[in-house]
Amino acid sequence: MATITLDNVQKTYAGGTTAVQGISLDIRDGEFIVLVGPSGCGKSTLLRMVAGLEAITGGEVRIGERRVNDLDPADRDIAMVFQNYALYPHMTVRENLAYGLKNRGTPKAEIEARVAEAARMLEIGQYLDRKPRALSGGQRQRVAMGRAIVRKPAAFLFDEPLSNLDARLRVTMRAEIRKLQKRLGTTSLYVTHDQLEAMTLADRLVVLNGGRIEQVGRPLDIYHAP
Ligand code: ADP
Ligand code: ADP
Repeated sequence: MATITLDNVQKTYAGGTTAVQGISLDIRDGEFIVLVGPSGCGKSTLLRMVAGLEAITGGEVRIGERRVNDLDPADRDIAMVFQNYALYPHMTVRENLAYGLKNRGTPKAEIEARVAEAARMLEIGQYLDRKPRALSGGQRQRVAMGRAIVRKPAAFLFDEPLSNLDARLRVTMRAEIRKLQKRLGTTSLYVTHDQLEAMTLADRLVVLNGGRIEQVGRPLDIYHAP
């Protein structure tokens, strides 16, 4: 667990577009923040800068006490869950879950214990020996969540993780994500354009517009405002 601090974070792309215009935000330990706002407002750019997938062109991002601007994604102690799941197609579910831990030299017994725990939490124990193509969309998204959980990261970053699922499954999965996040207490930053998803998940909502913060508040304060 950790705080995430955005200190006047900016992004100007090589072509000259300024997508993020000086955003400052303190995300508390264990807090669930949802970023919302119209298409093109800079949500994805901001998330990708925190993840280390996009260079920061101004200001500073800190995870805990550490300035992470110049750290590789692997050194930031975060796990990201993507819309397209990003599973390795040639590996089984078990191998997908274990892969990142194996790369960092986690002992085998520890890997097995963490994979078993994640499989139990996400109820994917019966699919461990299948390949992703033999799973439904919802099952794949559970595996993607499992892969984030086994890392025991300081923070989760979610990039529209449910938008490829049908409406009914989205409702189920968002409830599960909320439950899991509270249980693990992992600080989370979540991007979505779905208002219900945002309201259900967020401790605080951050509304972006034109690369700036327009509003920050609890879901009811924002959506019930006059
Ligand atoms: P959102 O996620 O809210 O839809 P984005 O962060 O994707 O917004 O985009 C914010 C702005 O940055 C948009 O004007 C978009 O066109 C621009 N943008 C996004 N990615 C790039 C890129 N790789 N190069 C140049 N401009 C980009
Ligand atoms: P690892 O970094 O655990 O060895 P990979 O080799 O699959 O795992 O990762 C390649 C890059 O992608 C690394 O920078 C890693 O941090 C990042 N990465 C892998 N899985 C995730 C994830 N679930 N969330 C965020 N980053 C990830």
